[in-house]
Amino acid sequence: MTMTATAEHPARDARAGTPPLQIEAVQFVRPASKFERVPCYYCQATESVPFLTAQDDLTGKPGTFTFITCAGCGLRYQNPRLGIEHVKPFYDQEYIAHRKKANWGPLTGFFNWVMDRHDRQKEKLVLRYVALHPESEVLDVGCAVGTFLQRVRTRYGARVAGVDFKDLRGCPSLEGVEFHCGLFYEQPLERERFDAITMWHFLEHDYDPVRTLQTAKDLLKPSGHLVIEVPRLDSLTFRLYGNRWPGLQAPQHTVLYDREMLLRMVRKAGLEVVDYLPYGAFPAFFYFFAGAAFKLLKGKGLNLSKAIYPYFVGQMLFAPILAFEKHLNFAMQTVVCRREN
Ligand SMILES: [Zn+2]
Repeated sequence: MTMTATAEHPARDARAGTPPLQIEAVQFVRPASKFERVPCYYCQATESVPFLTAQDDLTGKPGTFTFITCAGCGLRYQNPRLGIEHVKPFYDQEYIAHRKKANWGPLTGFFNWVMDRHDRQKEKLVLRYVALHPESEVLDVGCAVGTFLQRVRTRYGARVAGVDFKDLRGCPSLEGVEFHCGLFYEQPLERERFDAITMWHFLEHDYDPVRTLQTAKDLLKPSGHLVIEVPRLDSLTFRLYGNRWPGLQAPQHTVLYDREMLLRMVRKAGLEVVDYLPYGAFPAFFYFFAGAAFKLLKGKGLNLSKAIYPYFVGQMLFAPILAFEKHLNFAMQTVVCRREN
């Protein structure tokens, strides 16, 4: 399985002067492509200029993936993209957010601390905008195995719901979570139900982000808040690593947001921006570490069980710099919104 832009566009391989009829014949006999071209998610324009090509640096699966800059609005997004059915294999057992259990040998405690810390940071962020108590309704879009929701449920007694396009029912961490499997905007969820909707590293995977944001707006109570964290394209780690930047995460990431485009996107969906943060709950150190590893590995894939030792050491060495994570635009961004009044 080689997924290249060339395979997607046989016509571009045709030599100059080849009669058009022959090009059409070549296209006709090729099997249906896994790729599809899409107009801009923000402005619907179809004209673009190349931005960069990326590989699946995390798992090392074959293929090159193309990101473009929209000529209409400047949005950077993957085009052509994998059809939604064909991207599913990339969310497999190796996909870290879907790991149900991990055994990392002597560093299991460290791994669990990192994962727990991630959920604690999410909780802290949400609490700045939303009071959590037994009457609260919280929805996490792209909830994966649901550890964040489980934390909110057990600590505050909140009613929690989650959506993920991968069927993760049966995970112990989803016990007590109202789990919906499928595309977010197709779920039969009640309007004006939620006090908080969270999207932790979801929107950059989305196949229709404006529709997603409009759906979230409809599901929020008039006083409710939507918290969105995504990788930040105009960040230090992107400048360091370029086409090996972990925030590209090809082919799963469909859209790359800089600050301006993230804010424009939420406003387009009719949301009002309450706050913008140049960091998130996700550890920026992961991007420093993984970017350096991706540079060295050149698309061979990162063996997480081998990487955990250097990750552990690096985290210790980087601690003084990471203390400034909230002030130095390393890798992440968070926007907090509410319905426009
Ligand atoms: Zn555009």
